[in-house]
Amino acid sequence: MKDKTFLMIPGPTPVPERVLLEIAKHPIGHRSSEFSKILESVYTDLKYVFQTKNDVIVYTASGTGAMDAALSNLINEGDKVLSLVIGNFSRRLAKIAKGLGADVEIIEAEAGNAINPDILKERLDKDVNKEIKIVTLIQNETSTGVTNDVKTLVSLIKEHGALSVVDGVTSVGAIECKMDDWGIDVLITGSQKGLMIPPGLSFLAASEKAWKVHEQCKHPDFYFNWTTNRKSVRENSTAFTPAVNLFCGLKVALEMMKEEGIENIIARHTKIASALRVAIKALGLKLFVTDEKYASNSITAILPPEGISVPDIRKVLKKDYDIEVANGQNELKDKIFRMGTLGYVSERDVITAVGALEAALYKLGYKFELGAGIAALIKELNK
Ligand SMILES: *Cc1c(COP(=O)(O)O)cnc(C)c1O
Repeated sequence: MKDKTFLMIPGPTPVPERVLLEIAKHPIGHRSSEFSKILESVYTDLKYVFQTKNDVIVYTASGTGAMDAALSNLINEGDKVLSLVIGNFSRRLAKIAKGLGADVEIIEAEAGNAINPDILKERLDKDVNKEIKIVTLIQNETSTGVTNDVKTLVSLIKEHGALSVVDGVTSVGAIECKMDDWGIDVLITGSQKGLMIPPGLSFLAASEKAWKVHEQCKHPDFYFNWTTNRKSVRENSTAFTPAVNLFCGLKVALEMMKEEGIENIIARHTKIASALRVAIKALGLKLFVTDEKYASNSITAILPPEGISVPDIRKVLKKDYDIEVANGQNELKDKIFRMGTLGYVSERDVITAVGALEAALYKLGYKFELGAGIAALIKELNK
């Protein structure tokens, strides 16, 4: 049905009406005092969402822009970078570092797994001359639905002395991520995932220690330059012409997040995703994550049942029920499908999604007890 599309992909995610209406207004001048007031509110509230005292820089760019911004402000040619790879997005950080001339070493876990902290510890312990300057990692791997134990991994990196650069694109505002408490050096996210606004903005915060390393960076990027951008943040301004309307929407989205409270937001994501996993298993389907301890609370990756294809499941969900779920990426294409439950997501959404998934599987000829998923879901949500 027209205009009824419901996004259950891992971004873009649904946008609240209050935010949409704000974005629909005429753009205002980006050097006006009205806009400066909006920026003041946005910059303050972002610190709350990032759980940090550091300034949060906002770039008019997609999430990858902030990934680029993170590394291009730190790396000099020949620097040793250790990249912890568990999927497509964590691999992107390694690629960016390589492109900047870093000497990149990769520790990789097979898709569906998280990084084992013992393996990281062993590698860092061996680096007695402290050659490793930066460790890149991801909190929530969107391509596989796996969440790393970032708190533990970052504490090991801190102990070693390297900088930690963390992709928090599908965790910030969805999964617990305490930048200052955990000692994360650089944390980035994007607008279209946990922050309930459309794509187009990305965010970066850096620790004092990371700022010191930035000062030694010989050729930082111009547009993404930390120094010029932070100067603007501190003046309640932006370095260049920003996506004005998205900032107006962001102000409202952040106010909604503050009203709900970050702990409640995280609890909501936990409850919805755990119940979804229970329902998936009740339907006889398998989760892609190998150890449920590392299952993501923002993206659930699911293996289709024998004999039923991922494209067929996606097609029926889209065509008959107006629900979009994501395919796997690269080598996981057509092997898994992924349901995003992040940002503006409620219990109703997951009840709708599981009901529609059951209907789609039924139509496609999967043999199962109709209603088993929904029953398990409702019980789990009301435990
Ligand atoms: C979406 C996403 C990104 C950024 O992707 P863009 O398409 O550039 O917005 C980066 N990392 C993760 C984990 C993501 O989910």
